[in-house]
Amino acid sequence: MRVPYITAYDGEDIPYQLALAPHAEATDGQRLSYVNAVPTDWMFGVLWHRHGLSRAGNPEWKLVNTSRQRRCMRRNLCQVCGQSAADEDGRVWWVMAEPPGRSALGEPFTNAPPTCRTCIPMAQRLCPRLREGCQVFTVRGVEPYGVVAEIFRPVGGKLLIRDTTTEMPLDAFRDLEYSLARQLIVKLEHLRPAILTATGETR
Ligand SMILES: [Zn+2]
Repeated sequence: MRVPYITAYDGEDIPYQLALAPHAEATDGQRLSYVNAVPTDWMFGVLWHRHGLSRAGNPEWKLVNTSRQRRCMRRNLCQVCGQSAADEDGRVWWVMAEPPGRSALGEPFTNAPPTCRTCIPMAQRLCPRLREGCQVFTVRGVEPYGVVAEIFRPVGGKLLIRDTTTEMPLDAFRDLEYSLARQLIVKLEHLRPAILTATGETR
């Protein structure tokens, strides 16, 4: 069975140690960090879970590789094959088991990366959730909107987990300072329902 591009492998784990580090712009003057942090550990104002890209070991079918998920979202890549999910006209394909979430302003958002037109029929066959029913969309573009993250709470110099997986918008500054991001959430611009026929044609 084909392993989707975003699936995590058990040989991709990178051991790390979280720490609190002084940071002048942070609300409390400190933020979540690594013991040996480098600037690329942060993106969109939040610390990211370190996850390798080797695809070594065995697939962890239910887990998403953080680095590949973020890459799919930033570059409109298909979560199944890792190639572009955009059409010739630039619209990007999505298949979803449930309708996307909505921001306070009603804008649709999701943490599920696109699926290219070629891979949609296979995704529908292989994924039990999509088999039960799904919607196919195209979007004109995406914009980073939030993260799925763990939030920590500093207690007496130690770090305790406050929430395991929470969706947070990128303007939740204070919570982001204590968060470890695992997936990028994007806003879907000009979302339009689409129909994919058995022959792969679109209407
Ligand atoms: Zn694909």
